[in-house]
Amino acid sequence: MTVREETVAATNEYIEILKTLESRKIQSCISIKPTQLGLAIDKSLFMENLGKILTSAKSFGNFVWVDIEGSKFTADTIDSYIEFRKTFDNVGVAIQAYLKKSEEYVNRVLDAGGSIRLCKGAYNESPEIVYKQKNQINESYSKLMKMIFERGKGFAIATHDEKLILEAIDLSKAHHTDFEFEMLMGIRDKRKRELVEEGYQVSEYIPFGKSWWAYSVRRMTEHKSNIFLLARSLVSE
Ligand SMILES: Cc1cc2nc3c(=O)[nH]c(=O)nc-3n(C[C@H](O)[C@H](O)[C@H](O)COP(=O)(O)OP(=O)(O)OC[C@H]3O[C@@H](n4cnc5c(N)ncnc54)[C@H](O)[C@@H]3O)c2cc1C
Repeated sequence: MTVREETVAATNEYIEILKTLESRKIQSCISIKPTQLGLAIDKSLFMENLGKILTSAKSFGNFVWVDIEGSKFTADTIDSYIEFRKTFDNVGVAIQAYLKKSEEYVNRVLDAGGSIRLCKGAYNESPEIVYKQKNQINESYSKLMKMIFERGKGFAIATHDEKLILEAIDLSKAHHTDFEFEMLMGIRDKRKRELVEEGYQVSEYIPFGKSWWAYSVRRMTEHKSNIFLLARSLVSE
């Protein structure tokens, strides 16, 4: 299979997932990685593939999150997202707080009426373009989160960081509760349940497909306890 064909196969697989979610009445949405749909080889191929997924998702009343990957794809991802948002209201995009340009991206997406999933950022980038210190990343997260609460609706606070979760709760009291917390599968399960009991919406991000190994390695490098989660997933069904 050529790389181009692989992107079409990935697109078809996402559409099959959407059909299965619909037929089994599972309340969930999907996240796509732009490079999996061809962004690394041809932007128009990515746009074509994502267009098919968005059309399918829309027909089922479902929603699609566009992940943000390494920095060389960020500008194209945001530009494509803003283009798609003109036609589709069932699509949101991740923004990484560690990226120094993210304030500009947040403003552009909010101006376009888009939905943001705010995360810290998971790729190894140069200090010229990302904040490296934990306190700088958290400061950036807090600042962007405040902007999003003030101007956005239907967004996602994607973090396991208790300090930021509490800040989000405070902001929701001052603004509105049209947002959800999102966390990775298997992490902070007790806290997820508590948030739901407190009346907040919580979603879990579940890795799927052939790229799960690369995904799991990224998670392990972030937090040692994820090694145990990975080990558990390898030995249990
Ligand atoms: C829904 C979702 C979507 C994402 N999408 C993207 C994306 O598109 N692009 C991208 O670059 N990144 C994405 N990420 C990853 C994200 O950028 C971070 O790398 C990852 O979430 C860890 O950051 P954190 O906010 O939890 O903060 P961290 O600083 O890593 O962790 C903060 C605190 O959370 C707690 N914690 C973290 N892990 C554990 C654990 N295993 N067990 C117990 N406590 C723990 C600890 O108290 C820790 O100090 C996504 C994450 C989520 C949840």
